[in-house]
Amino acid sequence: MGRIGLAVVGAGAAGLMAALQAAKCLGPGRVALVEGNPKAGKKLLATGNGRCNLTNLHVGPGGYHGDVALAAPLLLACPAERVLGEFEALGLRTWADPQGRVYPRSLQAAAVLGALWGACQERGVLFYGDFPVKRVAPRDGGFCLEGEGGQRLWAEKCLLACGGKATPRQGCGVGGYGLARGLGHSVTALRPGLTALACPKKRTAPLKGMRARARVTLWQQGREVWAESGEVIFGDGRLSGIVMFDLSLRLRGSGEAALDLAEEMGEGEVFSYLRGLREARPGLLARDIFSGMLNLRLGQQLAKGLGFVGEGTVSSLGLGDLRRAAAQVKGWRFPVEAGTGWDDAQVTVGGVPLGEVDVGRMESKRQKGLFLAGELLDIQGDCGGYNLHWAWATGLAAGRAAGGLGPVF
Ligand SMILES: Cc1cc2nc3c(=O)[nH]c(=O)nc-3n(C[C@H](O)[C@H](O)[C@H](O)COP(=O)(O)OP(=O)(O)OC[C@H]3O[C@@H](n4cnc5c(N)ncnc54)[C@H](O)[C@@H]3O)c2cc1C
Repeated sequence: MGRIGLAVVGAGAAGLMAALQAAKCLGPGRVALVEGNPKAGKKLLATGNGRCNLTNLHVGPGGYHGDVALAAPLLLACPAERVLGEFEALGLRTWADPQGRVYPRSLQAAAVLGALWGACQERGVLFYGDFPVKRVAPRDGGFCLEGEGGQRLWAEKCLLACGGKATPRQGCGVGGYGLARGLGHSVTALRPGLTALACPKKRTAPLKGMRARARVTLWQQGREVWAESGEVIFGDGRLSGIVMFDLSLRLRGSGEAALDLAEEMGEGEVFSYLRGLREARPGLLARDIFSGMLNLRLGQQLAKGLGFVGEGTVSSLGLGDLRRAAAQVKGWRFPVEAGTGWDDAQVTVGGVPLGEVDVGRMESKRQKGLFLAGELLDIQGDCGGYNLHWAWATGLAAGRAAGGLGPVF
């Protein structure tokens, strides 16, 4: 066997893409994928509930957080079309939903992994499974990789694609932050991202298991931070759903989520509706005042919060009560706190600062011959295919550069 030209640490989304690109340049037997798990792509198989939302047709810097200004040229040079072109060349057919979220046509994450893994094998990429790398040291003009079980591997270049801390059961338990630090990089503070938000149990318990469509506004210190429409899922001491996941990337500490349950109506319109209802059905129980416009259980909880309980009827409500009720429909507030933990997270907020790499090549500015890709870096995307897109785009840039090609922009 010839000398290994490139060792890619981590056979996840970014690592597989990078290994394939590098192997196209370096040829068979010259690129090694080194993975702590026995097999490649464990997390990839779990993405999108097993369907793998691999990118988004609207992908662009606006959907990202962290070192976005530095990431922007790469994201613009690698839009969805470019990434999809790579997959099409591997024979993978895809399908996009009305929100632009792209899935494999088979709706199976295994199809995405199969395409990449198959292509890597066809290109002669070597695979070292059960090899959790605990140290990478520059040696003899290249890099020496040392495994937890005492294994050793030498390569001319090294590419770290170890992912982040989110959902640790899918990783190999070692990670790449220590490896990056050992090679001269820094790592920002890390916290779980794309998680459910914690909310006091006494607020969520009566609504547990319910789902509601709402426009949700995140408030922090009297300031509107973000607003997004979607489905809110009430859990045990938590609010989840895509909209809450996206909020979690923007929430620092604690804040309030205000749910607008009648997005298509203004507050005045809701008030007029309630006033008309009071005229039309004076005998309606006040606790059922929202029964004509909201889910029954949800509406009763809303009414309870307003003190509309017992056997009183809507005829007993004054205009002030109706105004309060309208305001509540348009902005039902829940105290929320960031992150319900790593087990629950889809992505890591923080990582190796992008300023420490040459972004067009994803090569380290601290260590020549070292490349970094994927979630390990301080970039996080919204829900909807943005995080895998980042993994593909950086894997593409890093793999090409490690194989000797020029920058992607
Ligand atoms: C449940 C879930 C669902 C998700 N769904 C989506 C989705 O539908 N769309 C989307 O865009 N994003 C989704 N994400 C996010 C997305 O999966 C990640 O952002 C993406 O996988 C990151 O790619 P990566 O290659 O950087 O890391 P990973 O895919 O995590 O791969 C890293 C690999 O490196 C290995 N490794 C780590 N350290 C070492 C070491 N020291 N030695 C050897 N190997 C090591 C790990 O075992 C792992 O195989 C989801 C995340 C989760 C948790």
